[in-house]
Amino acid sequence: MDVEFTKNKDGLVPAIIQDATTKNVLMLGYMNEEAYQKTLKTKKVTFYSRSKQRLWTKGEESGNFLNLVDILVDCDRDTLLVKVLPAGPTCHKGTDSCWGETNTMTYGFISELEEVIKHRKNSENPEGSYVASLFHKGMNKIAQKVGEEAVEVVIEAKDNNDELFLSEGADLLFHYLILLQAKGYTIDDVVGVLKSRS
Ligand code: AMP
Ligand code: ZN
Ligand code: ZN
Ligand code: ZN
Repeated sequence: MDVEFTKNKDGLVPAIIQDATTKNVLMLGYMNEEAYQKTLKTKKVTFYSRSKQRLWTKGEESGNFLNLVDILVDCDRDTLLVKVLPAGPTCHKGTDSCWGETNTMTYGFISELEEVIKHRKNSENPEGSYVASLFHKGMNKIAQKVGEEAVEVVIEAKDNNDELFLSEGADLLFHYLILLQAKGYTIDDVVGVLKSRS
């Protein structure tokens, strides 16, 4: 993990702090050589604080340390990407990131779809929305749909039509996301179970 990097004229290098698991950006700080070496040695991210004008181990008062996972240097070796596991909220204002965002795991388009489904679940008027009408019909109906789509996946798996196989898989995943939402869960809860097994 020992790396060479170019410091700016103050002897500092910007360090982007990223959650190693969620990949979210948590904060930006500056390191000098001493802060960098201390970070490597203690495995707790340490900056050079320009306002305090001293080394600053993030979490030294709050206990919200940034536990070091890895440090990468960028293409022209003037910026660090510091991968961490945060012990608590990173911002001193109490939010997970210094931009006020929560540090939750997201799964790209699947998470966007979950957001839309959540909105439909809370919608007053089920007319015109298939998803809202499913929620209106209740848990049994939603679970039954998942069963039907699963059977369709099995049928298409035996055939040679890949387009239909993928299409039924999409139907299954979509209805499973709806069932999870109906039960008050998200795909991340299922991923959590998978992770706990490995
Ligand atoms: P901590 O390092 O979490 O014990 O916080 C000690 C002090 O450092 C706080 O009172 C703030 O002045 C400052 N501080 C903590 N976290 C941040 C942050 N994410 N960005 C800027 N300043 C911070
Ligand atoms: Zn660069
Ligand atoms: Zn902050
Ligand atoms: Zn189907």
